Amino acid sequence: MVAPIPLPMPKNRWIAGYLLVQAVIALLCVILFYRPDLPLPPHEYRLTHAEVSTDAKTWTQAQLPYFRPRDIPPDTPVLLRTEFAYPSADAEKAWSIFIPRFTSGVEIVVNGAVILDSRRMRSVGRIDRNVAVIAPIPLALLHDGANELVVRLHLWGPLTGYLDAPYAGPDSELRQAYGGRAFLFATLPLALAIWQAMVGMILGLIFFARPHERAYGWLAAAMAVGTVQHFIPMPASALLRGLLGASGSLECALAVHFAAHLTGLRIRPWGVFLFLPAALVLLTALLGPAELLPTIYGLFGLPSIGLFVSMVAVILGRAAVARRDWSLAYLGSTLTVVAVFWVHDAMTIMDALPGERILLGRLSYSTVLIAIGLGLTWRFVQALNQADDFTARLVEQVREAEKKLRASFAREEEQSRKEALAAERTRLMRDLHDGLGGQLVSIVAMAEQTGGTKIGDAARAALKDLRLVIDAMEEIDGDLMLVLGSWRERMAAQLRAHDIALSWQVLKPEGLPIFPGLRPWHVIQIVRLLDEAVTNAIKHSGAGTLKVVIDSVAGDDGSPGGRITIEDDGRGFCAQEASSDPGHRLPGGRGLLNMKKRAEFCGATLDIASGGNGTRVDLWLPASAGLAAPGEASFPHG
Ligand code: ATP
Ligand code: MG
Repeated sequence: MVAPIPLPMPKNRWIAGYLLVQAVIALLCVILFYRPDLPLPPHEYRLTHAEVSTDAKTWTQAQLPYFRPRDIPPDTPVLLRTEFAYPSADAEKAWSIFIPRFTSGVEIVVNGAVILDSRRMRSVGRIDRNVAVIAPIPLALLHDGANELVVRLHLWGPLTGYLDAPYAGPDSELRQAYGGRAFLFATLPLALAIWQAMVGMILGLIFFARPHERAYGWLAAAMAVGTVQHFIPMPASALLRGLLGASGSLECALAVHFAAHLTGLRIRPWGVFLFLPAALVLLTALLGPAELLPTIYGLFGLPSIGLFVSMVAVILGRAAVARRDWSLAYLGSTLTVVAVFWVHDAMTIMDALPGERILLGRLSYSTVLIAIGLGLTWRFVQALNQADDFTARLVEQVREAEKKLRASFAREEEQSRKEALAAERTRLMRDLHDGLGGQLVSIVAMAEQTGGTKIGDAARAALKDLRLVIDAMEEIDGDLMLVLGSWRERMAAQLRAHDIALSWQVLKPEGLPIFPGLRPWHVIQIVRLLDEAVTNAIKHSGAGTLKVVIDSVAGDDGSPGGRITIEDDGRGFCAQEASSDPGHRLPGGRGLLNMKKRAEFCGATLDIASGGNGTRVDLWLPASAGLAAPGEASFPHG
């Protein structure tokens, strides 16, 4: 059964599929965010009521967690006063105050003495860090029964004031929850910042080595900003406050440039405007009044982060769908994660979400940036591997080309050697023909005039042999039929003189196949061999007819070969001895032996069969005739 060929999916179905996957990822993020409860100490140590005052004179009742009203000016700290019971039986245990979450800063005062001021702790002031505090209470401060706890809540930055319900209890009971939160919101971001710095450095190095890989440069810059912002403490000077406020927007603008370069999107004319929100936040921090910064950040800084994150997600998603590129789809999906957390954080900052006011945008962004950086490094390594493969292929090709060149050079050399040989042969043929040939003709004529018949015969035989040599010198390119034509003429004349009839049969229209290996020095051997067979028939057989049969016969391996048969109807001789032992000479001469040697020289096979009905000489020429045979220098004479 033939399987149906699947039709390519229409483009909008791909878009729908991509969006669906992103929706699932967003949903998973929300579930993930609400699933695990952040670590908290046992509930019995939780303080849930307090009195609130801004001037330490008028106090009002309040529930904890406390949400600081927006109408209190930012530079006015809010006092929250409550009580906790300390059993003196617990005297050998150290007690502490633990506050899981607050914005922006707290002073913890127990029985009138300040035991912790978060503004003096560098990383705790960063409201985006979600850091908890724990303050051990000196034993001397505690007394049996009710003890007073006052928390002074300070405010800065874009968030509204918030104080989660504090815990007062044995340090050992509170420490675990503090440790868990410190790992999540202090150690982990630090580890991510360092990791980000390292990946950023690798990308930066790649960019410096290969400046045309712009995407690497932009991402390295984003990572550098991300690393630097981690180490800005809060509260801080106007410049640092501005830098911190601008960092998120700046990083995201750099990420847009990165995505554009990665996907080949042109953002040249308007790309520079992406840096405007960051510049505005920085300038406000430097030049404007301090209270304007949260407003400008809320109006430009925060929304620009959301806008840029969405832009990156759209640019990557669009390219992923258009090119069906999984790696881009992966990058796009990571951006969806950031976008979800950004929405969560924005809603938290605008007091639209209840709960602990945990901000996760920064954490998710760092993680994603690292994931992208690792992906890019992997891509780069892949590209290097491809380059290596390409180089190896090139080297192989060059080697092949060199081999071919060498072979063609050798062929050319061989060709020119052959041409030189041919020229030399032509010169020799001309000299023999015009010189020695002419002189022999004159000797024959002179012998006839003077009645010297013997000299005449000898000279005629010499002339005949000379013609044979000259004929055989001609390059025939393996076509034996050319030579056999003139051989037939010579032989017919010879037979006619002895009253022997010639039967000439060519069984296939093409006669013999072409033997590419046959050179002139092979051809002369074949002609001499055939001559000897005819001479023997004339001299010894007493035959009336001589039959020459020319046939093409395929060899055992199917390659084209040829056979020349010379058969007389004379008296024959005991051919067994001659054919089985070429070294054995029949009385009379060495003709048969020479025939054998000549056949061997040409890579051909000679069979002689003789009996009462005559003698038959078979010369079998395989397709390889002449190829494996020795060269001109070693050809037999005689
Ligand atoms: P040479 O060839 O050296 O001039 P030759 O012809 O006598 O002398 P071979 O060609 O070796 O020597 O032949 C050996 C002998 O084989 C011949 O003497 C002859 O007796 C016999 N012979 C060869 N061919 C034929 C033939 N076609 N018919 C009858 N006898 C032959
Ligand atoms: Mg002979």
